[in-house]
Amino acid sequence: MSVETMIPLNSKAAKFVSTPKQLFINGKFVDAVSGKRFETLNPATGEVITTIAEGDKEDIDRAVAAARKAFEEGPWASMKPNERARLLLKFADLVEENIEELAHIDTLEFGQPLATTTAFASSVPELFRYYAGWATKVTGETIPVSTPGTIFNYTRREPLGVCAGISPWNAPVSVAAMKLAAPLSVGNTVVLKPAEQTPLSSLRLAELFVEAGFPDGVVNIVPGFGPTAGAALVNHPDVDKVAFTGSTVVGKEIMRSAAGNLKKVTLELGGKSPHIICADADYEKALANAAFGILFNSGQVCFAGTRLFVEKKIYDNFVSDLINYTKKYKLGSGFDATTTLGPLISEKQKNRVLNYLDIGQQEGAEMLVGGNAVSSDLANGYFVKPTVLANVQNTMTVAQEEIFGPVICAMPFDDLDEVVKTANETYYGLGAGICTTDLRKAHKLAHAIKSGNVWVNTYHLMDPASPMGGYKQSGIGRENGAASVLDTYTQIKSVWVDLD
Ligand code: ADP
Repeated sequence: MSVETMIPLNSKAAKFVSTPKQLFINGKFVDAVSGKRFETLNPATGEVITTIAEGDKEDIDRAVAAARKAFEEGPWASMKPNERARLLLKFADLVEENIEELAHIDTLEFGQPLATTTAFASSVPELFRYYAGWATKVTGETIPVSTPGTIFNYTRREPLGVCAGISPWNAPVSVAAMKLAAPLSVGNTVVLKPAEQTPLSSLRLAELFVEAGFPDGVVNIVPGFGPTAGAALVNHPDVDKVAFTGSTVVGKEIMRSAAGNLKKVTLELGGKSPHIICADADYEKALANAAFGILFNSGQVCFAGTRLFVEKKIYDNFVSDLINYTKKYKLGSGFDATTTLGPLISEKQKNRVLNYLDIGQQEGAEMLVGGNAVSSDLANGYFVKPTVLANVQNTMTVAQEEIFGPVICAMPFDDLDEVVKTANETYYGLGAGICTTDLRKAHKLAHAIKSGNVWVNTYHLMDPASPMGGYKQSGIGRENGAASVLDTYTQIKSVWVDLD
């Protein structure tokens, strides 16, 4: 870490994190009913940043009551779609004015390089603008029914009510925004519980919601832990919907809890995405793509291209060039302009990743490069070097379980049918990458891989207009795009009118 290349903490971000933080309920910043607080840490140094009020059941009860009231009565309930759109657009402008601050807050708390957190923060205004457009465009239909008499039948798309959002730590501000923009655009109210590791940027969004003029109770943000605040939200009988991004294990638990009052559920869960490199690919581009597919965000992405299938005739060269490529990544603080690989989120996560490296080697994989990063300047942070495991079999633990770290599991393949079969041998179905210059091959593979997102000669691209989500145990429902507002944040009512 060099002093000259360090970017100082943005003064507004420094001011924001200099004070203890509260919960945001019914338009006010308040302490937790229990008075409890928890610490949030800087993963690059292990130092405490500040303390956060720790929400629990009573706080969730208050937030849900506020969200219910705002949904049923008051200015939000009677607001016209174009007025809602204007509020969302105003909020988007405010976020845009504060992108640097939001990125700095996320880098401080999440550790990733500013380039990454700036991209995350920059996605927020675009997402809100996209969904602001939907506010005035969600329509019903007139249905030509064949029933006797003169009957007029039409449908309305109505909001669901109080929507809970539970977000993870691996893209703090942008995933929080996904739990807010779509539901708000069609008139729902929201209670968001951000991840306990990264609540700060969500609380900064709360301030911007106030500044934009959102009525009290429309947005509530209650930091706290999963088994307490999270579980209270998911079990709450007055919550109509839960949108969750996180692990498959917790996703299944949420589905069970949501059954209590049959909440609608959308889940964006884990992945074990295949990345298929064909021998005819643009070699240099494929190398960059393979590395980016897994190393972006230090591998802490559910879409990460963790299982790298390389066609046998180029396998040895490709893996050896990939090792050299990954050695160019520079580990360090996200505030160092030269850093290209940040720390993992926590000591727990680092130990989990290192444990997988041990398991992989015990099961016969060969670690060609990577592992624990223990150089003295990084010793207090949670760093793991870009790691390449070769001799991996798809049935091994490291090829089946989500590692959530910068770990590439390389496997050779001979032909397309074989690679499709192996790539699909997983419980997950979130993302997939394909590198080839053969157009027919690209589309054949894209159709055959069972996953919600496929990238050809690129990776990790996203846009508010394009749906995102998982096949199989990677999720239910979609975020982004028309599917999100229409299928997951509105419900259809059929109205029958006798005109005789
Ligand atoms: P990770 O293992 O990556 O931290 P989790 O799935 O545990 O992912 O957490 C994602 C989000 O889900 C966080 O906001 C966390 O607090 C929340 N969470 C964890 N357990 C539960 C639970 N039992 N009920 C509701 N939310 C939970």
